[in-house]
Amino acid sequence: MFIEIEDLQEDPLHVQHVFRPADLPFEHRDATLEEPVALDLFLTHKDRDLRLGGTVETVLRCRCCRCLREFSRRVSSSFDLLYLPQPEKSTPDMEIELKYDDMDVGFYDGVCLDVDLVAVEQIELSLPMRFICREECRGLCYRCGANLNEEACLCAKEETDSRMAALLEFRKRMRQ
Ligand SMILES: [Zn+2]
Ligand SMILES: [Zn+2]
Repeated sequence: MFIEIEDLQEDPLHVQHVFRPADLPFEHRDATLEEPVALDLFLTHKDRDLRLGGTVETVLRCRCCRCLREFSRRVSSSFDLLYLPQPEKSTPDMEIELKYDDMDVGFYDGVCLDVDLVAVEQIELSLPMRFICREECRGLCYRCGANLNEEACLCAKEETDSRMAALLEFRKRMRQ
């Protein structure tokens, strides 16, 4: 969905839209969109400087980085940010950051705002660095691949046993 900046009125624009997962360019190594994405957006503008506030909600299908199991997680995120026309290359980032000290700033081409991208960006910003199915997830055994949440494999014990055996062997040789 695109909003032509030329067509904007003085009044705030209210956009409510539900995107089908297949229609959004959301790409992530460990997550896919499991449910439609609901976007509720208020747009005000001063010339071509836009201010976007609202919420984005969906459910993601994520893969746990420890046990590789898939699980669902609800995303519900609110935002309030500025979208500014892409500045000239000569304008230092610092200058823009100082001007809009306490606001998040995104950029667009100054002609037309791609609302799909706004929705995707806001989902991405709300994601953690790594997905973990639950805090106490014990992950997979690095030797046999067993899911340690479900079974206790013997690898850890075997490793201790073999270390102990090596130690005993060493001692025995020392005594000879
Ligand atoms: Zn896990
Ligand atoms: Zn194991």
